[in-house]
Amino acid sequence: MNSNFIDENLIFEYIEKYQNPDSKLVDDVINKALELNGLSIADAAILLNTKNQDDIQKIYHAAYKVKDEIYGKRLVLFAPLYVSNYCSNNCLYCGFRADNKEISRTTLSIDQIKEETLGILEQGHKRVLMLMGEQHKNCPTDFFFDAIDAVYSVKDSKGNSIRRINVEIAPLNDEEFQRISQIKIGTYTVFQETYHRETYKFMHPSGKKSDYDWRLTTMDRALSNGLHDVGIGALFGLFDYRFEVMAMIQHSEHLDKNYGAGPHTISIPRVQPANNAPASHHLKYAVSDDELKKLVAVLRLSVPYTGMILSTREPAHLRTQLFDLGISQISAGSKTNPGGYKQAFSEKVDEGQFTLNDCRSSGEIIQDVIKQGFIPSFCTGCYRLGRVGQDFMDQAKPGLIKIYCQPNGLTTLREYLNDYADDDTKKLGNELIEKELDLIPNESVKEKTKEFIDRIDNGERDLYF
Ligand code: SF4
Repeated sequence: MNSNFIDENLIFEYIEKYQNPDSKLVDDVINKALELNGLSIADAAILLNTKNQDDIQKIYHAAYKVKDEIYGKRLVLFAPLYVSNYCSNNCLYCGFRADNKEISRTTLSIDQIKEETLGILEQGHKRVLMLMGEQHKNCPTDFFFDAIDAVYSVKDSKGNSIRRINVEIAPLNDEEFQRISQIKIGTYTVFQETYHRETYKFMHPSGKKSDYDWRLTTMDRALSNGLHDVGIGALFGLFDYRFEVMAMIQHSEHLDKNYGAGPHTISIPRVQPANNAPASHHLKYAVSDDELKKLVAVLRLSVPYTGMILSTREPAHLRTQLFDLGISQISAGSKTNPGGYKQAFSEKVDEGQFTLNDCRSSGEIIQDVIKQGFIPSFCTGCYRLGRVGQDFMDQAKPGLIKIYCQPNGLTTLREYLNDYADDDTKKLGNELIEKELDLIPNESVKEKTKEFIDRIDNGERDLYF
């Protein structure tokens, strides 16, 4: 498969060409972005290169506006579920790397996966991101299928179950993609980690992952073989952040042009320290908080329709700021070691894939999100109704998707408040629901949402648009 859609020379050329752009040029790009049609890599280079604080503030405001236009005030929540930490790769920045002999390796049993799922459900989650390392012997494809069934089979004491499982597993071949396209999964995600070929080679010295092209063409194989929604990402800190952002824009353009659906999600993790992961400690290309804020905003303007994911790697105060700059999906209450939600399975508590910096409980995060004026959402409506792939993009690109996001955010928040929240969160959440209900512009959607909320208060669950 063709992997030359990442044009390194062109990216470097634009980074060089648009050093210190003047404010007029920045304004022109921002105005273009506000039309919601995205930006080219040249446009992105202009925004990424500006150091003028007034211009940066304008970029931030535009990013807030674009996210609000497309998705409204909802922030979708999910929890990661690590089912195995065996891995045959040796990524120099990762605590699960094969050469790390100090970590205890586990593949959860089906019963343990069910227990973990219960731990996640008890936090109020309805979406899971299932992850496992790349090692066929201990995590074969059949195990993955059984694990998916196991997660969906669990009901908690409130009668709730997981409604959508997104997956982050190693790149598959055509036949494997055809097989997983037949089961109930949401978005399939693989990070390129770094799009810079030479850095990629250095960071991935052995294992199947050392093949840059195999990894880069993963989403082509996925979308050619029956999957609808894919997620991409870069691990910031491995190479120049401007390069990675522009390469992700090129990757998005490639997918959109060839398959009618750009990335359903883009993730923007930064490298965090991990045990026995040498490249996670002294980063030549470390990304500062301000640079992270800028790159999030520029990605929101460049690929406006995509869901942007922020994990608990980042500290609470920074996460709060990033919500205003275009983030639309967040993890909460996360554990990154298999068995982490029910520590009984795990002998050590510090063996996650990387260090977490937002250790608040899901409940605390949800309350803070409400206080910030965003709607914590557990919505899975699009996936359940088949609004996926190009159908989803057709609604997301012009900003029509929020017609569903807003009411579904409110109904799923009401479920959460009734089933899991403490009294303070309940009060704050219900006030937010009242306020936001009034703001729904379409009268019939407003009435239907009120009806759903009444039915939820009377014990029904899982009502959505
Ligand atoms: S309506 Fe669709 S896009 Fe909006 S939150 Fe729900 S699942 Fe996501």
